[in-house]
Amino acid sequence: MQRILIVEDNKALAKVIAKKINLELDFEVDVAYSLSEAKLFLKRYRYFLVLTDLNLPDAPNGEIVEHALGSGNHVIVLSGNIDKTFRASMLKKNIIDYVNKGGVDDINYILQTIARLQKNQSHTILVVDDSLVFRKQMLGMLENMFFKVITVAHGEEAMGILRTRSDISLVLTDYHMPVMDGLELTNEIRKLYTKNDLTIITISNDNEEDTTALFLKSGANDYIKKPFSKEEFSCRINNSIEALENIHAITNHANRDFLTGLYNRRYFFATMQSYFEKALQESEKFAIAMIDIDHFKKVNDTYGHDTGDKVINAVADILRANTSQNDIVARFGGEEFCVILKNITPSRALDVFENLRAKIEMCDVSAADGSTIHCTVSIGVLLSPEESLEESINQADMLLYSAKQQGRNRVVSN
Ligand code: GH3
Ligand code: MG
Ligand code: MG
Repeated sequence: MQRILIVEDNKALAKVIAKKINLELDFEVDVAYSLSEAKLFLKRYRYFLVLTDLNLPDAPNGEIVEHALGSGNHVIVLSGNIDKTFRASMLKKNIIDYVNKGGVDDINYILQTIARLQKNQSHTILVVDDSLVFRKQMLGMLENMFFKVITVAHGEEAMGILRTRSDISLVLTDYHMPVMDGLELTNEIRKLYTKNDLTIITISNDNEEDTTALFLKSGANDYIKKPFSKEEFSCRINNSIEALENIHAITNHANRDFLTGLYNRRYFFATMQSYFEKALQESEKFAIAMIDIDHFKKVNDTYGHDTGDKVINAVADILRANTSQNDIVARFGGEEFCVILKNITPSRALDVFENLRAKIEMCDVSAADGSTIHCTVSIGVLLSPEESLEESINQADMLLYSAKQQGRNRVVSN
């Protein structure tokens, strides 16, 4: 687990912050009450973050900040000093933020900031700028905010990267660049990725009045005018990333089944239609299976609905863990699942489904009363589908029906 160091001589405050971090976020927290204690901790552990007061008994003028930064740490300053010039001089150092420690709201702000930084670790930002100096400055600031960063010198290079990898969350681009400028780049990116997939922010010192609108109309999400303050920069970047995460959360919610996290029936039909047509056209081999838990009603009747849910989840986990990333596993409702194995020969597909059946038979789930439940599934597999998606699912359903008729806990195929 990652660690956070709090350096604060006000013991009550340090304890409140430590407790909140412990309760609400996933970190180990150490507390130091002086610079000398902090030094010992910093020698011993690598920290995700150092939260520090500036006025310590053995270091009253913020000496701790240089020390923590010097040993390669990310630092947030907690201070009661709201003097503007002092604050500005602190922000010039490579700290993440300068936070007042007035009251409950400030502590909540600190927690939100830490949670944000933690999530930033999973985002990659692509910086596009022809100035090496500016690229370096952006790299430093964004890495300090815990982002993964790629820097490139022009639009062509950026497009090359965006065509091969789809894990970029945000493109931060300059306007005036040789070959392809920021506006052309914005237009090109929007042919590949919508605002729901990727955020574009332009940074420029262009003073033309209509430039901002031009970018926003072309699909940029935000426009930052140079010169900008470090705080404005980090707030705008964080806001954009947060908006993107919210869109992803909503989409995920709409596409997935609440209980198991598998795709739901709606998403299955929305995404499979095009795969189906393409696979039939290109003669790609694939298989479609309907899977249903045997005598599931008995589990519910004997052990209760909650245990029934546990069994459904256990089956869902086995289906997901034993199929490949590209395959589609969906929960159609109740204790019924549909699995599509893509680009696979009939005999390989049968092996996979037989393995799934066996794995489920071996699995045990513990009921609320402590007893162990075993369950089995029946599987109807349609190999090499030839008809429409709906028709193929009907055929797989018929095969499932015969698996039930033949005694359950078996795979029946065409
Ligand atoms: P068979 O082997 O023929 O499939 O018998 P079965 O008992 O599994 O099938 P049946 O369709 O008769 O029963 C399915 C049961 O699943 C009935 C329903 O109450 C229960 N069920 C449906 N959705 C859920 C759910 O989300 N959670 C739980 N715990 N039970 C559910
Ligand atoms: Mg059933
Ligand atoms: Mg059923």
